[in-house]
Amino acid sequence: MATSTLPETEIQEISKATPKTATKYVYFFGDGKADGHGKMKDELGGKGAGLAEMTNAGLPVPPGFTIQTEACREYMRKGGVSADVDRQMEDALRRLEKLQGQQLGKGENPLLVSVRSGAKFSMPGMMDTILNLGLNDQSVESLAKLSNNPRFAYDSYRRLIQMFGSVVLDIEKHAFEEVFDAKKKQKKAKLDTDLDAKALKEVIAEYKKVVKKHTKHDFPQDPHAQLMMARDAVFRSWQNDRAKHYRRINNIDDMLGTAVNVQAMVFGNLGDTSGTGVGFTRNPAIGTKEFYGEFLMNAQGEDVVAGIRTPVHILELEKVMPDVYNQLREITTRLEKHYRDMQDFEFTIQDGKLYMLQTRNGKRTGIAAVRVALQMVEEGLITKEEAIFRVEPNQLYDFLVPRLDEKNAKVEVLATGLPASPGAAVGQIVFTADEAVEKAGHGATKNPVILVRAETTPEDIHGMEVAAGILTSRGGMTSHAAVVTRGMGKCCVAGAGDIHVDEKKREMHAKGQVFKAGDWISLDGTTGRVIKGKLNTIPPKADDPELLKFMGWAEPFRTLRVRANADIPRDAIQARAFGAEGIGLCRTEHMFFAEDRIPHMQAMILANNEKDRRAALKKLLPMQRSDFIGVFRAMDGFAVTIRTLDPPLHEFLPRREELMVDIAILPYADTKEKKSLVERYGRFGAKGANDLKKVLPTLLRRVEELHEFNPMLGHRGCRLGITYPEITEMQARAIFEAAVAVSKDGVKVYPEVMIPLTATLKEMANQAAIVRRVADEVFKEKETKVEYLVGTMIELPRAALVADEIAKEAEFFSFGTNDLTQTTFGFSRDDVNKILPTYIAEGILKQDPFAVLDREGVGQLVKMATERGRKTRSNLKVGICGEHGGEPSSVEFCHQVGLNYVSCSPFRVLTARLAAAQAAASDKLKTEGGRTK
Ligand code: PEP
Ligand code: MG
Repeated sequence: MATSTLPETEIQEISKATPKTATKYVYFFGDGKADGHGKMKDELGGKGAGLAEMTNAGLPVPPGFTIQTEACREYMRKGGVSADVDRQMEDALRRLEKLQGQQLGKGENPLLVSVRSGAKFSMPGMMDTILNLGLNDQSVESLAKLSNNPRFAYDSYRRLIQMFGSVVLDIEKHAFEEVFDAKKKQKKAKLDTDLDAKALKEVIAEYKKVVKKHTKHDFPQDPHAQLMMARDAVFRSWQNDRAKHYRRINNIDDMLGTAVNVQAMVFGNLGDTSGTGVGFTRNPAIGTKEFYGEFLMNAQGEDVVAGIRTPVHILELEKVMPDVYNQLREITTRLEKHYRDMQDFEFTIQDGKLYMLQTRNGKRTGIAAVRVALQMVEEGLITKEEAIFRVEPNQLYDFLVPRLDEKNAKVEVLATGLPASPGAAVGQIVFTADEAVEKAGHGATKNPVILVRAETTPEDIHGMEVAAGILTSRGGMTSHAAVVTRGMGKCCVAGAGDIHVDEKKREMHAKGQVFKAGDWISLDGTTGRVIKGKLNTIPPKADDPELLKFMGWAEPFRTLRVRANADIPRDAIQARAFGAEGIGLCRTEHMFFAEDRIPHMQAMILANNEKDRRAALKKLLPMQRSDFIGVFRAMDGFAVTIRTLDPPLHEFLPRREELMVDIAILPYADTKEKKSLVERYGRFGAKGANDLKKVLPTLLRRVEELHEFNPMLGHRGCRLGITYPEITEMQARAIFEAAVAVSKDGVKVYPEVMIPLTATLKEMANQAAIVRRVADEVFKEKETKVEYLVGTMIELPRAALVADEIAKEAEFFSFGTNDLTQTTFGFSRDDVNKILPTYIAEGILKQDPFAVLDREGVGQLVKMATERGRKTRSNLKVGICGEHGGEPSSVEFCHQVGLNYVSCSPFRVLTARLAAAQAAASDKLKTEGGRTK
């Protein structure tokens, strides 16, 4: 059929003439009906979708409306919302007023509302909320009369000014806290609730002065203005630092935006027949089927979540208000059946009447996630196929968390708090998040720290991320510390009331003892114990029966193999216990760093002729061989990929600067100093003090010869084996002698010799020829043959481009995505942290490309090289062995582009297995699979 194209001008005319369909920004819910429904998380956010769904299900939900996420995105784009949003919001407000028979902030029975954030993915406590909106100097009096409780009315008003002041008007929280604390002191009040109506009225007057002083304006009395300002502040809170940080670590898209929920207020602080609480339909720490949660009578929601008062277990509600308790159980059971997942809910009781404020799929530990998934299949709530998506692959790490080793240890329990997040953590005390970041350090210099706080707040998130564990003296199982650490899979003891944390003095008091920053403590997140001193930890077992059952459901889907990166027999054994199906990378250089080996390695490097070099290599040969024997035995029946020497040689020698200093001080050194120099340089031939004068300058000369401006792009990888072929020869000999030796014992051995950092076919051919020649020699000498492969790492863009050429010689490829990311971006993998935080904060990069494979760039090279390689050699085996091999989204990508295997560190094998199974299952099932996120 012929097609014709309209001229450009005509298109413009048509689009002018056709009115754009107006965006629906505001969705009403109330009176048993909602404009939206539970599947509209993209538009309504998790909370808004939940409110719509609960309303449609006839549950007691206070009515209101949700302003959808598009309005937030618009706000981010233009710095304000369109007139349409304002108009639709006013319409919805009128509808709400009509339904309630009230007016916002007006009349004898004023309508008050809450204004809450609610994004697609839950971001607990990261964004802002305003309660009691609509109160002003008049409506507070009406509320006092109506409730016959002036104290309650003034308390609500002062809370509004405080929240509005800090969230909307950007006034520091402490400006209000100072006023409040001073009033408590003046009135000799111990608790907040000890302040009477008169005192609270005085607080309000002071608060208003604080607002005027900081903003030069009065606290806004017009309820409609309050509402608009609050809505915009909640939109802005999507962009606050802690929300951004949370999104970064949870991989949530910055562009999603939040919805805003405006809902008629119900009060949990109206007196003894009112209250508020939060709970879970199952235990989120260990997954047992029990009604789980906490509540407080005569309180508002923030009192429970913020951990200011320690709440009561939810089962106690049955004694206090049996009817409400039964109704709550009935509703939450229904909700769980409806959503077919464990629910995390919030409720308020106002004058004996129950209201549901929120429900969502509850966050849980990995152990709980597996158990809940198994139970729900048994209960017939979900299918086995759905169950395998109910666990995030990274959560399986919880099964691998250590426990405290208490055998033969002095265990002095300082306090027992709540077992908020399982596992064990041992570290030095720090009292602030910044101190945690500073002390914990990064990379190789990481020190374990325990962040000790009275309670944590969303501002502590950066410190919580680096700490080994978290200890709080206040707050419950749903406090901020508990929820966030469970999400992170990090050990936490919360609400340890027997310890007192003096954050000002930076001291922790427990059992009459004082602990300061730097003191060691041990936490048991599974029992809630806080133990004095530094206990050892024992590694966990990965053969938990529930885990095995769960993996037994997931694994049949998996098509991608999972191998481990392991350099020594011990790690190989560990990896196999976690289910590794071979070794994808054995970095042979790690074998040379051992105390008894490095002298020979250094002798080899210092040799200035082939004969001396061969002599040193001969000493290394039996050591390498014995390591390979151990690894082959551990991986009986599976392939083991061994990489020939890769790093620049200077890494094995002392640093140039240190040597220069030592040479400079040598003439002035006393006997003691000389002795320590002999200790340091003994392995380089300095047997006594007299040798130092000769050895040190010789060493410096060699170090200078090896010095490179850009060692990562220098004399390393296959370039070493090409310039010093005897190194490759020795390594190949060690590999094949070991392989022949174990195969004679009946071990099934499949060595794969891997050449690093090739860029050209000729490099590959050069090294492959050496390996094949040595293999033939060994097989002849030993009169035994073993099957083997020779392949290469793809770590350079050039190698990816000419992969079809390289595959003529390489029988397998393994993507070294650490180097490939480095060489594709031109980022130094060791120094990128100077740049990365800014790049991520500015949105230039979404994630650290060294952690999550960059699908658009590096990923395309991986895809292309695989295709090109297989064009030459259709049965080319292809894997990945960079850090990305254990990261779930990268594993998914590897599955999608048809790799044969991923290889990762032993502790990520389980995660990679599940990620690979999920990737294959979603291919097969073509469903979203009800992920818990
Ligand atoms: C890589 O570059 O991805 C790799 C696995 O090698 P290494 O980290 O040892 O450079
Ligand atoms: Mg590399």
